[in-house]
Amino acid sequence: MDPKKILFVVIDGVSDRPIEGKTPLDSASTPNLDYLAKVGINGIMDTIAPGIRPGSDTSHLALFGYDPFECYSGRGPIEAAGAGIKLEDGDLAFRVNFGTVEGKGSVFDKIVVDRRAGRIDDTDDLVEAVRKIDLSSFGIDFVFERGSGHRGAIVFRGINVSDRVSDTDPKEMGLKVKKAKPLDESEEAKITAEAINYFMEESHKILEEHPKNHERGKKGLLKANVLLLRGGGKVRKVQPFEEKFGMRLAFITGTTLIKGIGKFIGADLIEVKGATGNKNTNLKGKFEAAITALDSHDVVLLHIKAADEFGHDGDFDGKMEFIQRVDDEAEILKELDFSKVCLIVTADHSTPIKARDHTADPVPVTIVHEGVRVDEIDRFSELIAYKGGLCRIRGVDLLNIALDLTNRAKKFGA
Ligand code: ZN
Ligand code: ZN
Repeated sequence: MDPKKILFVVIDGVSDRPIEGKTPLDSASTPNLDYLAKVGINGIMDTIAPGIRPGSDTSHLALFGYDPFECYSGRGPIEAAGAGIKLEDGDLAFRVNFGTVEGKGSVFDKIVVDRRAGRIDDTDDLVEAVRKIDLSSFGIDFVFERGSGHRGAIVFRGINVSDRVSDTDPKEMGLKVKKAKPLDESEEAKITAEAINYFMEESHKILEEHPKNHERGKKGLLKANVLLLRGGGKVRKVQPFEEKFGMRLAFITGTTLIKGIGKFIGADLIEVKGATGNKNTNLKGKFEAAITALDSHDVVLLHIKAADEFGHDGDFDGKMEFIQRVDDEAEILKELDFSKVCLIVTADHSTPIKARDHTADPVPVTIVHEGVRVDEIDRFSELIAYKGGLCRIRGVDLLNIALDLTNRAKKFGA
């Protein structure tokens, strides 16, 4: 018989804290998700651990069986993986913004007037020009790639590289560009900080004089004349998913950060036309692509972002209506052959309307598969899921539970 497949549907930030007893998910009309809850086993989940507020990155690592406390060292490495940089153990990776500075003298005397350089979108020429910088006198190499819009990622590599250095992004407008400082006494930290500061000056000179920026100046657009580095972290390479679990993994997501997690753990990224990671995303296309991906892959993630965005915006009705749209498209899930597919519907964390940020409130989780102990839960809701047969689990255990249900787990002991 064909090995069984596992489909994760992660509705980012879908769960909430009740306001006068109500949450967007509990209030939404979700007949299809409710059906899945009814034929499945349900529970609540601490994606990382009770009381720990998850990022979308750390929680997704946990959901796919990677302990974020062991393998997560900041956003830099994840963004760099997402930008397509092949990471090596010991690399120092930063997220990068093209920004705009004004003033005289050294780049560190100048004031950041925009952290996104007027949301510049075409940075290819600029990236190419900056790549000519030579850091070999520091014993350091670097790899610089653009991301979407004004974003990018940079990796510093070499025997002299230390991650004990500070960011150069002041993270606020109106402040000066920061010098990278060594954060310990080591020679490596000192050299790395010097190399980064040299890179900051040189890249500023190159960008300031670049024809593209002259053109932008003439058009009245902000110059993209500085690179702001943040989220620095040392790369700890993880065992790729396929090697670790013996299964092929695919991610379907419109969100750069989750693509980065996918690349970091060795997932194939399946691109869907119109998958934007926002409320106008092509939901139908994503659901269809997820079902199709089960033919070529053993484990598939379908990640849906916008519920989280509505949570950050504090928009109760917007979040509820978006959940209803997700439910409309989720009808297709009911047609899955649950003797062959183990379906998991859950979230990566709660993003409550009132908190406007991620909280550690556990998320609902529903598992549908032949042979699960169907419980009495008949609605997909964070307010009642705790009564289900899964009770309360941790994110890092979820994949193990699915592996067991699909008879892919190995016995521990005799
Ligand atoms: Zn999230
Ligand atoms: Zn969020």
